[in-house]
This record gives sequence, structure tokens and C-alpha cells, in this order.
Amino acid sequence: MATRYSEQVQAFLARPHRLLVNGEWVPSSDTEEIPVLDPATGQIITRVAGAGARDVDLAVTAAHEALEDGPWRRMSARDRARLLQRLAGLVAEHAEEFAELEAIDAGKPLVAARSFDVEFSLRHLEYYAGWPTKIAGQTLPVAVPGVAVRTERVPVGVAGQIIPWNFPLLMAAWKLSPALAAGCTVVLKPSELTPLSALRLGELICEAGFPPGVVNIVPGTGPLAGAAIVEHPLVRKIAFTGSTAVGTSIAAAAAQTMKRVTLELGGKSPLLVFDDADQPAAVETALAAAFANAGQNCSAGSRLYVQEGVFEEFLTAFTARVTDFQLGHGLDEGVTMGPLISARQRDRVTGYITAAERSGARLLTGGADTPAGTDPAGFFVRPTVVTDVPQDAPIVQQEVFGPVVVALPFTDEADALAKADDTVYGLAAGVCTRDIGRANRVTARLRAGSVYVNTYGHSDAAAPYGGFKQSGLGRELGAENLDAYLETRTVWTSLS
Ligand code: ADP
Repeated sequence: MATRYSEQVQAFLARPHRLLVNGEWVPSSDTEEIPVLDPATGQIITRVAGAGARDVDLAVTAAHEALEDGPWRRMSARDRARLLQRLAGLVAEHAEEFAELEAIDAGKPLVAARSFDVEFSLRHLEYYAGWPTKIAGQTLPVAVPGVAVRTERVPVGVAGQIIPWNFPLLMAAWKLSPALAAGCTVVLKPSELTPLSALRLGELICEAGFPPGVVNIVPGTGPLAGAAIVEHPLVRKIAFTGSTAVGTSIAAAAAQTMKRVTLELGGKSPLLVFDDADQPAAVETALAAAFANAGQNCSAGSRLYVQEGVFEEFLTAFTARVTDFQLGHGLDEGVTMGPLISARQRDRVTGYITAAERSGARLLTGGADTPAGTDPAGFFVRPTVVTDVPQDAPIVQQEVFGPVVVALPFTDEADALAKADDTVYGLAAGVCTRDIGRANRVTARLRAGSVYVNTYGHSDAAAPYGGFKQSGLGRELGAENLDAYLETRTVWTSLS
């Protein structure tokens, strides 16, 4: 298997994978190594050091000192921007290596890793590299005589960043870029399931010349390393992307020391297809919405509501396209869908399919069996379309996080909106229609952080992203995300 890897990836895998603390790669002091699996084969590719509470303490202390005393604090905004630009340049230079790492660690088709994960990571770094020189306070026209009043925008402090396994490099870039642009220092914990690209990024962060302690990277498990970050008193801000269950517990724990928190959590996002929509275009939109990244996507359009007059016809065309996916190893030519991340995730997803079938659901394609032609030791699930289920069924209400879409009919706009809103989530939503009035009426009523009209699933460094309801707190990306890493200091100066 290893012979399939490029020389660069082989060389990276052969290096020891330690923790990045204070600009050095150090062994873990607390815990055992974590095996890293290729999800398409179930084989161990390498092992990485897993951080424990003591390691996290060292990392947070290094980040704190870098913020208080180091060159980072004195650095001009221009030089901070240049470091981000240099990092973006290095990521671009190593784009192929990153794409390959994502393919073997996260199970992504190489083409998707290249065109989405790596490309968008670069865009985030480049976008936020433009911000340090534009962060400014204000002079305020207060009514108090004899004083001058101004605001300063200052970094919030050490940021603890905890990221998931579905977009490992992208989530690291997405979290690091605004924090560094704002002048914070960071302790980043990649998912224990996909630590490789963040570790490689850490090497490039050192090469780019970021001062020691500005970025610390501590792979480790959630309950150990993650919880230690959330509980550490010197961490002033937590940025978390992951499940709503863990996000809820993080928000509660962070409240103890009043940490600033942004949470980007789960979703069960609806796509509404009206009978006046361009049906072939809507089929492609629904396909991308439901199955991008094998459905392991917070904003996956996993509830497909189609107006009753066109329901059966639409589903026939949609199902035919779903069967086009080529499942396999991300490094194999022509593969368009990879495996799920772990045996546990595969079993969770197939559990939803089996339970739905048992309670009378109709499967239009897919199922819980191992897909033909894939490595049975890998964690593959067939892309699956389920219908004839009640609105309150678990497969309609809960985030499945796999290649499973539930298709249900609706009667009119009111019925579509009621069904769309009928979950605890509100991350994304889409509407397909040719009627501009309807598009405007419906988008104005959808309780979702990102709403798509006749398209689905875009994200961009300049566009705020986050959830209504239980899909999260605050917004990532865009100028709004900088606010999450800045405090405002109001300075009053006597003029006498
Ligand atoms: P997912 O289902 O996407 O893995 P999780 O919420 O389980 O979502 O994990 C997302 C990230 O949160 C991972 O980096 C994981 O290690 C971390 N994590 C899990 N549990 C905790 C916890 N109790 N405290 C802090 N971080 C955690």
C-alpha cells in the first residue's frame, strides 16, 4: 500500500508525529500514541502522539507567553499579514501533498481534496492575510466634556480551537486564519481520527517563521486533550466545530471561566424543490447537497422535500444519478465517493438505514450492506435514498452524517416551510424554484444560517457561516469572525 504514496507523503509518514509546543516538536508526556487509519482499507498508516492535560497545559502556557512577551505582540500588522501570506504560499507549494494526505487520512477522492479542501484552505489563509492591516478602533463623539475617547481592538487572548474530522486541513485553516489575523495565539486540537494534515501544516507554520508559541498543535482525544483546552483558565476563547452534543457540553464548561465561544455544530438541512423549478438542474443541486464529502458535512442537504405533483418523477431522475457514484479508495482513478471516517461512523449510519427499513421505509437505492467492489475492511456505505417515513422518524430528525438522504413530499409553500423548520437545527437550507417572488418569500422565512436559491452548499472566506437554533453560536468566516477573536478596549483620556 505504502508504495502508492508519493515520496513527500512517504517521508512525512516516516517522521515521528509529535506535538507542536512552543515552536518545537515534543513527545507526549501523558498518553499513548494514537493509531491513524486509512478509512478505505481499515489499515493503520501511522501513529501520532496524543496530548494529555499536562501537554495541553504546556501548550497553553507557551501560547500565553507568546502573547504576553514574545515578538508576536510587538510585530506590526503588516508583518503579521506577511506571515499569513508566506504560510499560504507554502501550502500552495505543497498542495498535492496535502491533497494526498486528506485522501489517505480522511478518505477523500483526490480530486475533491485538491479542488475543495486544499483550494479553500488556501483561500482562507489568503483572505485573512488581508485583514491585519485593516483592524482599527474609532474615535467616539461622547457627550462628556474634557476627554478624548477612543476604542482599540485587541486580541482576545489564547484561542483554543477544536476541530472535527470531516475537513481536517480546511477546518484548521478556517480556524487559524482569523485568530492569527486578529493577533491571538492558538492551541489547536485536530480530531484524533484525522491529525495528519494539521501536523504537516504545523511544519509549514514553523517554516514560515511564526514565532514559537504562536501556534501550538496538540492532537489528542476529546475527553482528554479537548476537555483540558476547554477547562484551562488561560484560554480566553474557544472555537469549536463538531457535534451539537459535544458543543453543548463545551458551552457549559466554558461558561465557568466566561470564555468567549463560537460553536459550529450539527445540521439536518432541508432542500425544497418546487414544481416550477428547473427539474434537471434541481436534481444536480440535490445530489451535491446530499452527497458531497459522502454526506459527512454539517450543512449536507439531507432532507429533500419535493412538491407532490413532481415527487415521483423527480425521485426517479434523482435516484438514477445517485447510482452513478463510484465508490473506492480516494487515490484510485475515477472514484467520486470515499468511505466514512471510521467503523463506528459506518455502523451509526447503517444503523439509521436498518431502523428506517424496519419501520416500513422504502429504499429507492442504497442500503446497509457493504458496497460491491469496495474493500470490506474499509468503512464504505452505499449512497442511500429513503422515502415513506414519518416526519418525526429519527432518520428525518437526527443528523446521520453519511450518504443518506430522506426524500418526502410537500403540498404548498406553507407546508414546505413548516416541514423545513421542523427540526432542532438551522444550519443551512435551499430552495429550487423559477418564481422569484416565491424564492424571496421562502428565503425570508427559512431559519438557517446559510440559505441557497437554485444552488447549494457554497462557502467562502468572505461569507459568514454558522447556525440558527441548535446548529451553533456566532459566525465563522468573513469580517464577523474577526470579532470573535477581538475585544474592544475603550480608552478615556483627560484633555486637561
Ligand atoms: P464529530 O462527530 O464530528 O467527531 P465530535 O463533536 O465528537 O464531532 O468531535 C469534534 C471534535 O471535538 C474532535 O476534535 C473531538 O476530539 C473533540 N471533542 C470530543 N469530545 C470533546 C469534549 N468532551 N471536550 C472537548 N472536545 C471534545
